[in-house]
Amino acid sequence: MYTSRYVRKDQRRYIEINGHTGGCLACGYFGALSGRAHNAITCRACGVTQCEGLRDTCYVCLYGFVLSESRAGVCGYAGCGKPAVAKAPRVGRCCKDCLGRVKARRSGGATLLKVIAHSLETLDRDWTVWHPPVEG
Ligand SMILES: [Zn+2]
Ligand SMILES: [Zn+2]
Ligand SMILES: [Zn+2]
Repeated sequence: MYTSRYVRKDQRRYIEINGHTGGCLACGYFGALSGRAHNAITCRACGVTQCEGLRDTCYVCLYGFVLSESRAGVCGYAGCGKPAVAKAPRVGRCCKDCLGRVKARRSGGATLLKVIAHSLETLDRDWTVWHPPVEG
């Protein structure tokens, strides 16, 4: 049974209009999946569950890791050593507690904490929840 997850609204709309083109059941991407759905993964920073893609970082907040804890590594701040939750400019990666210490790129000086909070506030604009079809 598949897990509910967030998918892009525009992509769902495309599927509703054109029907499934053989991609992922949920997000519609990647023809090779032929009617199955991607694994669902959850961002370590913003907590949004989404389709597993080809990147290490979240498609929603853009900074959070969608990697296992061991692959995400530890915070790049000296003396911190907590599990990393996001890719971070300057220090490489940072933990949940240090998100407020690092500034995002092209954000007008906003910290990663702010950028991630903002992406959650505006989540419903571009993303919608896909629920797996009930079997039987
Ligand atoms: Zn998918
Ligand atoms: Zn995220
Ligand atoms: Zn830290």
